Amino acid sequence: SVGVAAAAPDAGPGPAWQSKCPWGAPSTTSISCSLADVMSEQLAKELQLEEENAAFPEVVAAAEGPFITGENIDTSSDLMLAQMLQMEFDREYDAQLRREEKKINGDSKVSISFENYRKVHPYDSDSSEDEVDWQDTRHDPYRADKPTTTPRRGFIGKGKDITTKHDEVVCGRKNTARMENFAPEFQVGDGIGMDLKLSNQVFNALKQHAYSEERRSARLHEKKEHSTAEKAVDPKTRLLLYKMVNSGMLETITGCISTGKESVVFHAYGGNSATEDKVIPPECAIKVFKTTLNEFKNRDKYIKDDYRFKDRFSKLNPRKIIRMWAEKEMHNLTRMQNAGIPCPQVVILKKHVLVMSFIGQDQVPAPKLKDVTLSSEDMKKAYYQILNMMQQLYRECNLVHADLSEYNMLWHDGKVWLIDVSQSVEPTHPHGLEFLFRDCRNVSQFFQKGGVAEALNERELFNAVSGLNITADNEVDFQAEIEALEKMNEDHVQNHGKKLSTFSSDGDPPIYDE
Ligand code: ADP
Ligand code: MN
Repeated sequence: SVGVAAAAPDAGPGPAWQSKCPWGAPSTTSISCSLADVMSEQLAKELQLEEENAAFPEVVAAAEGPFITGENIDTSSDLMLAQMLQMEFDREYDAQLRREEKKINGDSKVSISFENYRKVHPYDSDSSEDEVDWQDTRHDPYRADKPTTTPRRGFIGKGKDITTKHDEVVCGRKNTARMENFAPEFQVGDGIGMDLKLSNQVFNALKQHAYSEERRSARLHEKKEHSTAEKAVDPKTRLLLYKMVNSGMLETITGCISTGKESVVFHAYGGNSATEDKVIPPECAIKVFKTTLNEFKNRDKYIKDDYRFKDRFSKLNPRKIIRMWAEKEMHNLTRMQNAGIPCPQVVILKKHVLVMSFIGQDQVPAPKLKDVTLSSEDMKKAYYQILNMMQQLYRECNLVHADLSEYNMLWHDGKVWLIDVSQSVEPTHPHGLEFLFRDCRNVSQFFQKGGVAEALNERELFNAVSGLNITADNEVDFQAEIEALEKMNEDHVQNHGKKLSTFSSDGDPPIYDE
């Protein structure tokens, strides 16, 4: 399809539909309320808030007051509001455009498109700025070319035209070229076409300065990062959260429960919108997967080899990969829910933001297993429950948690709840069994230290969970066998183009499920 501007009827300075304002002619009624009134109302609100805060300090202490609510939107959110309005406007504009397009085309066989007039809103997630291809980020097209080097022997040319690497002119030019390698934010000025020749002394002084500037700017940057971590989310995410409150899905977002390396988790009170034919839990946890590039890199190995995401991985840009983490957590939680494993219930997924039920009460999250002191009876109970859950996870959900430890298990309502499953993989993942073994080690060490005499050691636990029968009686051999099994599975994939549905440790033919 092509964007044919001239084909629009009444093509004047702007397309025809712009002159017909969808809201009709603006009425010129006088404003019923003065600016001063608005200001004083705002002041009154602020004063009341202050008073309330003084009267109920304990509510405020929990989290510095709700930071996103339906009613209490202060002026700092004006930008946000404007962006939301703009978005709404753009949506209506586009809808109108689509109607016009349809009207003009009718059922003609040749159609014209208004695509080029469509608004691309900068705050919408899929703006073109995002569409950096994932592959492209590995090769930086803007990196300066390597400066040409003098060969080992230290000179070029022949006879009396020999130039050595110590030649003052060559050296000076080379020094100038090397400035390209300074940090990009370091201003070296514009020397193009000036044939600048820097002496070694000047160059070294500049280099020293560039390095110390780089360190200083890194420090400043770190500070800035930190302060955004306190506000916890970037504007795009904030907007997403606003929309959730605005739509009535959430009542209030009260504050932050946890800021980890890969995610930030908020507490929220559920709203009463009964849309999506789902009941919203009274209290929700919102997990926002961080959209910074650095942290998720070390997670590559989990997702890259997960065949469920294999086809999509190579084509995606980093932002989309982060969304995939959220998606993975959602799918894995749903599987666990279906198997009856105690875990948060998924409410909704929007881009990289996952809303789930809150494990805990009255804004207080349930403690991690590492933070509670359980009676020896409860400890034993918890152990058997976990053993059971690990088996269910493996057999019924076809999953390995892959980050199971006392940090990702919460103690609530007299039982253990599993959380944090974005990295969970299927057992036939190329490293699935290694992940399972690590999980087993964490669990058995925790409970052996915690005085549960019945706790199996990591190798016994591994066999009990997986149903495999690895007989090695020491860790090294055991791990070697695990890796051999994984290798066998990979070879099978190579030869047959698909995975085994289960592992079998003896020489039996593999079991398929078709
Ligand atoms: P991370 O990848 O950052 O470890 P987690 O999913 O483990 O992310 O969440 C971090 C912390 O947030 C948890 O240790 C837990 O204290 C809290 N948390 C996460 N989800 C919930 C939930 N559904 N209910 C209550 N607390 C939660
Ligand atoms: Mn965690």
